[in-house]
Amino acid sequence: MLTRNVLFSVNAAAVAWLLSFICAPDSMAEVTTPCRSLNHVVFMTVDGVRWKDFFDPKNTPKIHALANQFVMFGNRDENSHFKVSNPINKSLPGYQTLFLGFDEGAKNNQWPRPQAPTFIDELASQWQKCPDFDKDSVAAFSSWQVLENALTHFKPANTSSGPNQGNLPFVLSAGAQPWTDLKHPDDGAYFSKIIRSDLPKWKLSKKDKYTWSMSLHHYLMHPSQFLYISTGDTDEWGHQNDFKKYLSALKDSDDRVDEMMQEIAKSPYATSTTFVLTTDHGRGNKGDFKNHGPDIKHSDEAFLIVSTPEIRKQASANKPPLAISGEFEHRQLRPIFEYLLEIQSLGASHDSHLLDTLRGAHLL
Ligand SMILES: [Zn+2]
Repeated sequence: MLTRNVLFSVNAAAVAWLLSFICAPDSMAEVTTPCRSLNHVVFMTVDGVRWKDFFDPKNTPKIHALANQFVMFGNRDENSHFKVSNPINKSLPGYQTLFLGFDEGAKNNQWPRPQAPTFIDELASQWQKCPDFDKDSVAAFSSWQVLENALTHFKPANTSSGPNQGNLPFVLSAGAQPWTDLKHPDDGAYFSKIIRSDLPKWKLSKKDKYTWSMSLHHYLMHPSQFLYISTGDTDEWGHQNDFKKYLSALKDSDDRVDEMMQEIAKSPYATSTTFVLTTDHGRGNKGDFKNHGPDIKHSDEAFLIVSTPEIRKQASANKPPLAISGEFEHRQLRPIFEYLLEIQSLGASHDSHLLDTLRGAHLL
């Protein structure tokens, strides 16, 4: 009995002590809890890159120099598979699957915008309700104009000068369309002018170097909680069957990913930012290199690298890069973004295998 009484009094004291903490933050929570997630995400895609080319350190030397800061998926030589989640293996269907978290059935690059909201739509709509909502905190920069048909289900507003993205609840620069930076109109006008004076030879696009520069500029001016950067030169050179320029475009992306990571490492968001990089589809081998699609073997093979604050904290010079074996795919990325950005739309129909794997390994 004595023991029980002692235990009871210890427990009662412990409960009182715990309550003092639970009650205090509870009342403080109304004042200090932010309306949005404290995490930051930089999501990057390089279009139509084969996993073998990506995992060759000659082509992506800077990413490989940082390899212990990433977890890698899709290196089939190490039994890690990361694949496209639709049978088409073309860009727009691939991007729609990435942003929706499932395949809505897009068959080609002329497909209309998705019917369902993408995770960017959900994120922006949710944050619009925050008293301190700032449109600049969700931003997407894309070399290819058509990507707007994967990023959002919102229809563009029709104006006398044609459709524009002004009605979207997030910042979007897709292709070579004129761009408005509301807080820095001179910068927006400068980028719009320089992009149109130096167009690539393929249509509906701006050169990747401008996509990267605009993204970095935007990030430095308005550190976004979600920043998406989508480049396309790799795929375009692939279609031209110019392997050398395809590799050179990949190496340029390697430089710019490194630059973006270094900038953020110097910022106050260094310990809250997760980087994710993937491709929308692979491409064929040998004679099929310039193609990808439902009938081109290997074009469903993608890759993924993820760098979380936790992985970077655990990284050390003598620790080998982490490659996780198993079967993973595109549609499993959305639950990771929803988890990090605290988006409320995560449904039972979403495939959380990748999220569960990263959380199970204490990497997220
Ligand atoms: Zn293509």
